[in-house]
Amino acid sequence: MSTLLSDPAATVGALVSVAVQTPAHSGMGALLSYASERALPPGTLVRVPLGAREVLGVVWEGDAPALAPGKAARPIAGVLDGIAPLDGHWRRLVAFAARYYQRSLGEVALAALPPPLRDLNSVQLARRLRRSATAHTRADASPLIALSAEQQRAIGQIDINSGPFLLFGSTGSGKTEVYLRCVQAALEALEALDAQPINGIAAQALVMVPEINLTPQLQQRFMERFGEGSVVSLHSGMTNPQRLQSWLAAHSGQARIVLGTRMAVFASMPGLKLIVVDEEHDASYKQQEGARYSARDLAIWRGREQHAKVILGSATPSLESWYASRPATDGDPGGRYLRLHMPSRIASGDDAGSLPVLRVVNMQHQPRRTVFSPPLLAALQQRVERGEQCMILLNRRGYAPVLHCADCDWKSDCPHCSAHQVFHKADRTLRCHHCGYSVRVPRACPGCASPDITAIGQGTEQLEEQLGHLLAGVLRPDGQPVKVARIDADTTKRKGALQAQLAQVHSGEIDVLIGTQMVAKGHDFRRITLVAAVQPDGALFSSDFRAPERLFALLLQASGRAGRDAQYVAAQGSRSEMWLQTGYPEHAIVAALRQHDFAAFAAQQLQERRDAAMPPFAFQALVRADARTQAVAQGFLQAASDAARAHAVVGLEQVTLYPPVPLSIQRVANVERAQMLLESPSRVALQRFLAAWQPLLHATRSQPEHKGLVRWLVDVDPLAI
Ligand code: ADP
Ligand code: ZN
Ligand code: ZN
Repeated sequence: MSTLLSDPAATVGALVSVAVQTPAHSGMGALLSYASERALPPGTLVRVPLGAREVLGVVWEGDAPALAPGKAARPIAGVLDGIAPLDGHWRRLVAFAARYYQRSLGEVALAALPPPLRDLNSVQLARRLRRSATAHTRADASPLIALSAEQQRAIGQIDINSGPFLLFGSTGSGKTEVYLRCVQAALEALEALDAQPINGIAAQALVMVPEINLTPQLQQRFMERFGEGSVVSLHSGMTNPQRLQSWLAAHSGQARIVLGTRMAVFASMPGLKLIVVDEEHDASYKQQEGARYSARDLAIWRGREQHAKVILGSATPSLESWYASRPATDGDPGGRYLRLHMPSRIASGDDAGSLPVLRVVNMQHQPRRTVFSPPLLAALQQRVERGEQCMILLNRRGYAPVLHCADCDWKSDCPHCSAHQVFHKADRTLRCHHCGYSVRVPRACPGCASPDITAIGQGTEQLEEQLGHLLAGVLRPDGQPVKVARIDADTTKRKGALQAQLAQVHSGEIDVLIGTQMVAKGHDFRRITLVAAVQPDGALFSSDFRAPERLFALLLQASGRAGRDAQYVAAQGSRSEMWLQTGYPEHAIVAALRQHDFAAFAAQQLQERRDAAMPPFAFQALVRADARTQAVAQGFLQAASDAARAHAVVGLEQVTLYPPVPLSIQRVANVERAQMLLESPSRVALQRFLAAWQPLLHATRSQPEHKGLVRWLVDVDPLAI
C-alpha cells in the first residue's frame, strides 16, 4: 500500500489481478497487478496498459501479485461494462488447460476469446453489441422421424445415466439424430422442471466436429430442428465480426446451441448442459500450436466441472476412449465412460448387412507401378454405367511426391527442409508442403542438365489425369461422358470452393470423386456405392505407434461414405463396396476391415499397447526444441534433462526421460528440430513433474550456451511421436 500511496498517479482504491497475454515462455507470471477505482468481480473484461500498448485483460480471482519494491500499479484503462463477467466455470476451464498443457494462464485465457474483443475499445464494442441483438426464431414443427431401436436405446441410456458416454455407432447408424434428440432433451430439461434458468440463462449445448467443412451440413440440420436464431457456429473459417457475434450470443445465453471445431470448447456458455464431440477419434481435436490442448479431453473435464453430460461419438473411437469405456469384468471395475453401441445402419432392414463389402486386390500380383488394377477399373466402369458414384481415396496431393533424374540421381529436394518438393502439374511448380517454398519445374535436371527427369509416385492430381484417360469413352446412363473430379487442399483454396464442389457431388454431376482424407470423413453422400483406397500401404509400416489406429479409422470412415442410402443401393440392385489395393492382404487391419470389426482390431491394438506400456497404459509428453543446428537443439534438451536429474525434480522417480532425437522430418524452413519423450505410468506423476520442471526449462533456456535455440515447447499427450 505504501508504494501505491507514494505514487501521485495512483489515486485509486483497489489492486486487482488481471490475466493478460504475456509473451509465451516469457517466464513472466500471467497475472499482473493493476489499480482500479472500484472493485471488479472476477471474469470482468478490462483494458489495461502493458508496456507501451493497451491490451485486453480478464480480472482473475485471488490476491493481486506483489509489485516490485518502489513500483506502483498502473491503473486499469477501461472496463468492458457491456459484457457480463466470464463465469467461474470458464475461468476454471482456462486455468486447468493452462496448468495441464504447461502454458501461461493469460495466453490460454486471451487465446480463448474472439480476436475483436482484443482490438475493439469499449465504445466500438457497445455499438457491436447493439447490432448483434437478433430475434429468437422458433424451430419448425415438422414431425420427427421415428427412431431406430438402437437409437432409442442409446438415447434412453443417455437420459438416465450421467456419463460421459462413448456412442460407438457404425457409419450411417444415425448418430446425428441421437445428438439432435439429446440436445433437445438437454435444452428442455430446465423448462420441464419449471426451474428458473441460472442467472437468467437457459440451458445450452455445445456440439463439436473435427473440421470446418463439416459444420455447414450439421449447422443446417440443427437450424432446421431448433430454429436459426438459437444456433451459432464457432470456427476459424469465420470472419472476426462473425466470430465475435457468435461468441457473444453464446456468452449471453441468447444462442442455445454452439456448433464448432476444437476452439469452441473454450466458448463461454454459462448454461452448458450437454457437450457432443462427434468423430471423437479425430486428430484435429488436438491443437498443434500454442497451448497444445485436446478439445476432446477438455470437453470431458469441462463436462464434469460444469455438470454437463458429454457424448463422444465415433465409428472408430480412439483407443483411449475405447479403453476408458470398457465394460466391467470380474477383476476389473470397467472404465469411467459408458459405451453405447449402434452397430446397424439406418433403414437397411437388416443389421450390419448394408455395410460395404471389402474387395482386396493383391498388388503383389499386379505389374509393378500399377496404379489402378484391372478389376478395380472394371468395377469403376460398371458403377458409372449404372449411374452410381465412386470415390477414390489417396492421402497425397499434387501430381507426384518427387521428381528424379535417372542420370545423376538428382531429386527435387527442398533446399530448406529435409523433404522433397512435390510436383504440381497444373501450375508447373515444385512445392514444399512443409515450408511452402515453391519454384518453377525445371526443364532439365538442375544437377546434370539431362532432359530425362521423371515423376516418381502418384498424388491426387495424377490419379485424376490417369483415370480421365482410363475411363475415356465410358458413358453414364444418360449418354453423357463420365465426369471425374478431384477435391483436395489445392482445389479448395478459394473461399466457398469446397462447398461448391461438394454440392456437385451431391447433385450427381460428378461420377468419380478423387480426394484426400478431406472427403473421407463425415459427409453424407447418398449415391456413392464404391469407395477405393488405392495406396494405403505407406501407413502400415510407419514408426508412429498410432499409425495403424489412424489408418484403420481413415479406411473405415472412407468405406462409410459408400452405400449410405440403403434404399438407393437396393433399387440399383447393387451392393456397396470398399476396395483396397494392397501388397499386404494378410495384414490384421485388412481382416478387421473385412469384418467391420473395430472391437477385434481395438483389442489387438490394446494388447500391443499394454505389452509395450504405451498409451492408454502410459502417459506421455514431448519436449520439442528448434535450433539452427541439431547439436544446439539436442544440447538444450539434454541439458534440461540433466537439470531434472541434478535437482531431483519431484515425480522424477515415476517418469522416464528418453534421450533427445531428431524429428522424422528433422529440418523445416532451415530450422533443425529435435524432441525428447517423457513417459510415466501415472498421469498425476507426469503432471507434477512437468510443473516442477518448467522453471528449470526456463533457466536452462537462458544459459548462454543455449543462445542459438530458436524455440522450445512442451506437448502433453502428444498425438504423433
Ligand atoms: P452417422 O452420423 O451415424 O454416420 P447419420 O446421422 O448421418 O449417421 O445418419 C445417416 C442417415 O440416416 C442420415 O441421412 C439421417 O438423416 C438418416 N437417419 C438417421 N436416423 C434415422 C431414422 N431414425 N429414420 C430414418 N432415417 C434416419
Ligand atoms: Zn541429373
Ligand atoms: Zn521446405
